[in-house]
Amino acid sequence: MQVVVGAGVAGLVIANRLLNAGYDVVVLEKSRGFGGRLATRRIGNLRFDHGAQFLKANEPREIPFATDQWIRWADKSGAQYWASPQGMTNFAKNLAVNLDVRLEHLVTKIEILRTGYRLLADCHSPSEAERVYLSCPLPQSLKLLKNSHIAYDPCLDQIKYAKALIGLVGFEDAVPAIKLDAIQLNPTPDIAMVTDQKSKQVSNEPAWTFTMASNWSEIYFDSSEQEQKFAMLRAIDRWLSVINKDVQFNGQILQIKKWRYSHPLTQAQYLYSEVFKNLILIGDAFGGGSIHGSIRSAISAPL
Ligand SMILES: Cc1cc2nc3c(=O)[nH]c(=O)nc-3n(C[C@H](O)[C@H](O)[C@H](O)COP(=O)(O)OP(=O)(O)OC[C@H]3O[C@@H](n4cnc5c(N)ncnc54)[C@H](O)[C@@H]3O)c2cc1C
Repeated sequence: MQVVVGAGVAGLVIANRLLNAGYDVVVLEKSRGFGGRLATRRIGNLRFDHGAQFLKANEPREIPFATDQWIRWADKSGAQYWASPQGMTNFAKNLAVNLDVRLEHLVTKIEILRTGYRLLADCHSPSEAERVYLSCPLPQSLKLLKNSHIAYDPCLDQIKYAKALIGLVGFEDAVPAIKLDAIQLNPTPDIAMVTDQKSKQVSNEPAWTFTMASNWSEIYFDSSEQEQKFAMLRAIDRWLSVINKDVQFNGQILQIKKWRYSHPLTQAQYLYSEVFKNLILIGDAFGGGSIHGSIRSAISAPL
């Protein structure tokens, strides 16, 4: 048995590789759904991607095992962006179709056995494995190794993650009369990305996602939701005034989503780390802080 911890894109890609190679594989995921930072949420009749918004890849070959009907667009430099019209979670759900994914399995400890490993998960019987892949955001994988008294390359402790606060915005009245691309990257120093979910075909009704910049998110991460909303509204007003000072923001921040581990600020020198025989770390801290980076790590790791 091979066990993968984490059902984000890295975990799902390595699990598919193992399955295709003929191994028995189980994926243990702590949350109630697939995808990790590929996350889509419905609020009333609106739908939002509130984690990753797009995948950057030159061609479909770089997105292994995907069966999605992608929408694709290119920027002025020719870089290609891909998104799943049902929302980015759908990409993860499709990757998981043939896999044995056990949701609500928080792995808390790994014991080294003579022939492999025993993984302890909250409220579930332990799983035994010949080989284990940890695909959590790196600080969470390292915490698990520390709890398990398993040593790893101390350089990995230097890799820190940025935080992200996300504003999910809907409109009771007409949407502000501005021309908005599906995705605007870094439109102001406070905002890392504005996404029009309707243009991305994720939502039938107007729905905007504001991914706040890491510096901004760091400042407000532990503030009350009221303070976060107030500061976010000011940042949105500043953004709109740059585009068209005659337009007023008439949207409503419906929800704020917090990501403690958004993306790594630096990355490891290698694409995966085998910390002990057949115990392998993968994910965006290795391949680079993006979906593509996580895929690159998962397709480089040994089976
Ligand atoms: C707001 C935001 C916007 C982003 N925008 C983009 C973008 O537009 N384009 C892009 O390419 N990238 C973007 N990224 C980065 C991208 O989402 C990530 O790099 C990528 O999805 C990471 O995938 P992963 O599988 O490595 O990790 P994750 O998606 O984090 O998956 C790890 C999984 O492990 C699970 N887990 C953790 N600990 C345990 C445990 N102890 N037991 C069991 N399960 C556990 C988690 O619940 C999670 O499901 C964004 C990220 C965020 C947060």
